[in-house]
Amino acid sequence: MSVTAAPVGADADARAADAVVHARPVDVERATAAVSELLDALGLDRRTDGLADTPERVARMFRELLTAAPFRPTTFPNDAGYDELVLVSDIPFTSLCEHHLLPFRGRAHVGYLPGDRIVGLSKLARLVDSFARRPQVQERLTAQVADWLRDHLEPRGVGVVIEAEHLCMSVRGVRATGARTVTSTLYGLLRERPAAREEFLQLIGLDTRRSIR
Ligand SMILES: [Zn+2]
Repeated sequence: MSVTAAPVGADADARAADAVVHARPVDVERATAAVSELLDALGLDRRTDGLADTPERVARMFRELLTAAPFRPTTFPNDAGYDELVLVSDIPFTSLCEHHLLPFRGRAHVGYLPGDRIVGLSKLARLVDSFARRPQVQERLTAQVADWLRDHLEPRGVGVVIEAEHLCMSVRGVRATGARTVTSTLYGLLRERPAAREEFLQLIGLDTRRSIR
């Protein structure tokens, strides 16, 4: 990702968009050849009807999982002075575990206590999708969404909680089908003020007796 001088106005929006767009497009042709090679290495016969088109299908699938639709997460001045919690909960997402290239999927809950700037509600879901469509670990995905809000909105508080099931845990290794991994990143008042934190956790339906750091 290129680093540019401190932008102003429209350039600032462009920079914001840059921050959440996939770095390099997927080379489907090259990925197709690589999957063919992988199938050979796995001892599979690619001449069978079922596997004949698999390399290209797999390449296209990875392109889909790794490509976020570009968008401009434009922010606005908080002219109305809204100072209560803004929360979008149960945002469905699918991401790709960077250790096994298997999907992990679940729901993200994204909230913030506005300061001087706000962002369109639909953009919160797009933000999650953008950061999800790259090789990830759940902890980093959670922090990246929270960091983006902290850095671009300068809000009084940020709360991001992600609940997900990892196929690499369900279908291999410990085979813990249905196990749910919960990660959270809280900043500002949502981290420091117990009442604000409780409200946030209650609204997203998380048991507040469980320890959330
Ligand atoms: Zn994994």
